Amino acid sequence: MEPTRDLLVSEVFSAIQGEAALVGTRQVFLRMTGCNIRCAYCDQPEALEKRPGPCRIEKTPGRRDWERAESPLAVEAVVEAVDRLWRAMPHHSISVTGGEPLMQSKRLTGLFPRLVERGMPLMAETNGTLVSALEELIGWLSYISMDVKLPSVDGERVDPVVQRRFLDVALGAGVDTWVKIVVGPTTDAGELSDAVTMVAEAASGVPGAPAVIYLQPVTPFAAVTDAPTPDDVLVLQEMALRIHPDVRVVPQTHKAIGQL
Ligand code: SF4
Repeated sequence: MEPTRDLLVSEVFSAIQGEAALVGTRQVFLRMTGCNIRCAYCDQPEALEKRPGPCRIEKTPGRRDWERAESPLAVEAVVEAVDRLWRAMPHHSISVTGGEPLMQSKRLTGLFPRLVERGMPLMAETNGTLVSALEELIGWLSYISMDVKLPSVDGERVDPVVQRRFLDVALGAGVDTWVKIVVGPTTDAGELSDAVTMVAEAASGVPGAPAVIYLQPVTPFAAVTDAPTPDDVLVLQEMALRIHPDVRVVPQTHKAIGQL
């Protein structure tokens, strides 16, 4: 029997990208359900379980005129939902996000070519832990926004060796890739230093790789009640800049302006 290509989706909508390198651009967001880790600050708790359930699809870009549907959705239905928003007004690209979208890599191999052939540049927003899934999908990706996780902030123990392999695959394929590191009041300086060193080493092995690092001050949510202080952020950026030449601080701007 053919494996199902239906996609477990949480929502499809048009919005302003609020994070990292493409901040401020207009994107169509395809939010997949399921994540293989559980960060303390996660602001998408409803997208963490990879299972069937209700989902919502915006009909008109930015109008939040949701259509309700039942996930999983057939590939054709996802193509139609994304394409309707994409064609209704100019968008920069498609953000395939989650949850952790690469958890559904097999299913996405049925979707991505359909979107790319319609001229849509694809960006994966990923936690940077699923290396073989990235290898399956990388040929269709134009951008990769990869998290590098710090246990002192997210409470998870993501293996730095896996994150390095993930980054090597992304940079080695020549895909425009950047790294996002969420920092908070509890950020361990040694962990941040190791993470930045890892990125610097990976980038130095690939001539021309930009590998910009974005420090993202955590937005208090769920179990996380405090953001880092302004002084914390200055010190953390200084520390990172002493290791890697391009470290920028960009908070979650969509939250600052009351966007989705
Ligand atoms: S990797 Fe992303 S989606 Fe998964 S728990 Fe962490 S913040 Fe949430």
